[in-house]
Amino acid sequence: MFFRSIEHLKLRYAGGRAMLEKGLPWTSYAHKMYTHWFESTTHNAVQTFNYHEQSANVFTRPMRGRSGNRYAVNLRKMECDCGKWSEFGIPCSHVQSVCKSWDIEATNYVKPYYGIHPYLATYRGIYTPVPREHYWDTPPLLSCSITKLYVSVVV
Ligand SMILES: [Zn+2]
Repeated sequence: MFFRSIEHLKLRYAGGRAMLEKGLPWTSYAHKMYTHWFESTTHNAVQTFNYHEQSANVFTRPMRGRSGNRYAVNLRKMECDCGKWSEFGIPCSHVQSVCKSWDIEATNYVKPYYGIHPYLATYRGIYTPVPREHYWDTPPLLSCSITKLYVSVVV
C-alpha cells in the first residue's frame, strides 16, 4: 500500500513538472475549468455597471429551451451569484465577462493554490511509512481503562 501511494505521488509530481515545462501558469485542472468558462462568456451580456462598488449584472442568453438568468458579480467582494467563483477559486464565465467588459485581467482572480509551484510543493518531499499499530506510542490519557472512564462519568 505504501509503495503504491508513493508511485501515485511520484506520478503527480512528474505531471506537475510536465505542466511547468509546458509553461502552464496553473494546474491542468484549473486551466481546463478557466478555459471552459471562458468559452461560455460569448453567451453573456454585462449590464448595470457600478464602478464604485465594482459590481455588475450579467445576463445569460436563453439557450436550448432554457431561459436566461441574471447573475450579480462583485469583484471587490470576489462573489458571483452562481457560487462557482467562491466554490472553485476560479473566475466563472460571469466574472470573466465582467473582467472582459472592464478590461481587467481575469486570470489575476485565480486562487494562487492552483499555481504549478504550490502543486509541485505538495508532491515534493520525503515520505515515511506509518508503522504498524503495534509500534505506536500510546498517549498517557488513553492508557487508562475505558471501563474506569465510564464508571467515573456515570457515578
Ligand atoms: Zn458566476
